[in-house]
Amino acid sequence: MADCDLCGVSRPTLCPVKVKIDAYGSAFPTGNWKGLNEECLNACHEAGKARTPASGTRCALCYKKDVPLFAATINVPTFEPPNYREETVSLCEECLSACDEAFERRQKELWHSPSHEGEEHHH
Ligand SMILES: [Zn+2]
Ligand SMILES: [Zn+2]
Repeated sequence: MADCDLCGVSRPTLCPVKVKIDAYGSAFPTGNWKGLNEECLNACHEAGKARTPASGTRCALCYKKDVPLFAATINVPTFEPPNYREETVSLCEECLSACDEAFERRQKELWHSPSHEGEEHHH
């Protein structure tokens, strides 16, 4: 099990999203992998289309500051009815396109193996 980097939900498999984290730039020059569950990936994909300016101060995925940020609305599970609450996260342009890429990749995977969801033997 792994936790989604946005909403914290545990899932057997997450959709990998490649982001560039400045602080780790030298150690991971090619970028850093974050994991999002399907719901959050969809939310980020929608956010990429809507481009609603967000009020946050740093990107929720790569922690970049002082860049234009866009709002994505995700559902964070709670223990009380209706068992989730909406939360707005701020994402930078770069992470939005990374999410877009991951989203497209995910769609292709689903297309190719509709009956083998969750099976990941290679990458
Ligand atoms: Zn999530
Ligand atoms: Zn970012």
